[in-house]
Amino acid sequence: NVQLSGRTVLVAGLGVSGAAAARVLLERGARVLLADAARPSAVDALLESGAEWLGPLAEVPADVELVVTSPGWRPDAPLLVDAARRGIEVLGEPELAWRLRAEPAAPWLAVTGTNGKTTTVTMLEAILLAGGRRAVAAGNVGRPLVEVVTETGADGAPAYDAVAVELSSFQLHWSSTLAPQAAAVLNIADDHTDWHGSFAAYRDAKARILRGAEVAVADASDEVAAALVAGAPRPVTVTLGEPAPGQLGVRDGALVDRAFADDPAGEVLLEAGALQVSGPHNTVNALAAAALARAAGIPATAIAAGLAGFRGGAHRNVLVATVDGVDYVDDSKATNPHAAGASLAAYPRVVWIAGGLLKGADVDPLVEAVAPRLAGVVLLGRDRAQLAASLARHAPSVPVVEVPSGDDEGMGTTAEQTMRQVVTEAARLARPGDTVLMAPAAASMDVFTDYAHRGRAFADAVRELG
Ligand code: ADP
Repeated sequence: NVQLSGRTVLVAGLGVSGAAAARVLLERGARVLLADAARPSAVDALLESGAEWLGPLAEVPADVELVVTSPGWRPDAPLLVDAARRGIEVLGEPELAWRLRAEPAAPWLAVTGTNGKTTTVTMLEAILLAGGRRAVAAGNVGRPLVEVVTETGADGAPAYDAVAVELSSFQLHWSSTLAPQAAAVLNIADDHTDWHGSFAAYRDAKARILRGAEVAVADASDEVAAALVAGAPRPVTVTLGEPAPGQLGVRDGALVDRAFADDPAGEVLLEAGALQVSGPHNTVNALAAAALARAAGIPATAIAAGLAGFRGGAHRNVLVATVDGVDYVDDSKATNPHAAGASLAAYPRVVWIAGGLLKGADVDPLVEAVAPRLAGVVLLGRDRAQLAASLARHAPSVPVVEVPSGDDEGMGTTAEQTMRQVVTEAARLARPGDTVLMAPAAASMDVFTDYAHRGRAFADAVRELG
């Protein structure tokens, strides 16, 4: 725990978690300085509580002893470089939360990975609630950690007794001492190398979640993640195949635990058919959530109840409509090649809608793997030429249509118009029985506000087709 009263703390970046960190720091009696490029509305209330607004900063002011940085800021931001050069500690909001936990502190069950984090954490939250815990999902999903770990009930005791924590690689980069009771690295694939500088740095940031965790969980089929957990005191892997001892897996159509069960043959958790979310990747997520819950002592009955009631998140493999025998599926949240690959694997014949910001990722392995399933491809977004070139190499017989998009090309078309054209082209390429799958393998911000905006535009365009 940290002594904050009277210390000067600089909060860099005032998104949701930065503003929450500033509020808690003020409550603890710290002198709080605020820096950001633009001044968000959240600042007003903080100033009323005594914080000082400094605007955009490239150097750390003289008396600052600690910097709390937003996950959006890259480590090479001038302000953070200056802090490092002068030996001033920089931490992220999750690390601050860890140090400020109200006693008796609730255990953290934490999840990271390139894909599946939010799904797994919300599954875990549902399981913990079904198990009678006062649980909450927090971190990179749900509420900021600093808020939930300092919240107390009327009796003055902590409001929660278990926290399902989602941590991004950015948040983990700025974490040093946080130690979850159990942690999962679901998978590690090419993503965000622009932020971290290299794949190795990205992997190392993710690996930080395992420090201090007794139980470490990974998808056995992901070599990088499985190698990371192998060194933990208690490695547990999940598999879509029959589970070996120490694994959770699938046997005779049921999810089975052979890592925590008393019976060496394993214990059935629930029938796979009871899951309401589709695709093999979601079975992996369910097994990982179950493993973390088992590590926290949750019984099989609660795991079954929590998972069976889980309906999946918006823009994550959602069937929008079936038009003329063609299913239209919104997986706008597939913002990198690895996610798109998992998604495409769930459908036999796909008209694939892809493209946007590739963030430096290599798309060749994905295109090569999915080529046999492709009935056609419609490309949009800034980096579509990279996808087009890869498709020409690895899927030369697949028809590809490129839709030029919007503002960045000075065409004055709106995001909605672009998507309408994309969906029209996809409908032309599809035959009854096909799936038109928008799993773009890329971020959306070149054309759309965010992935949710992209998903809504897709759903609206599909409804216009019908
Ligand atoms: P995150 O929070 O890591 O972004 P989500 O649970 O929101 O993950 O899922 C994002 C997308 O990643 C989904 O829409 C799906 O395309 C894909 N996905 C989900 N789970 C997995 C998994 N276990 N492995 C690979 N891809 C996945």
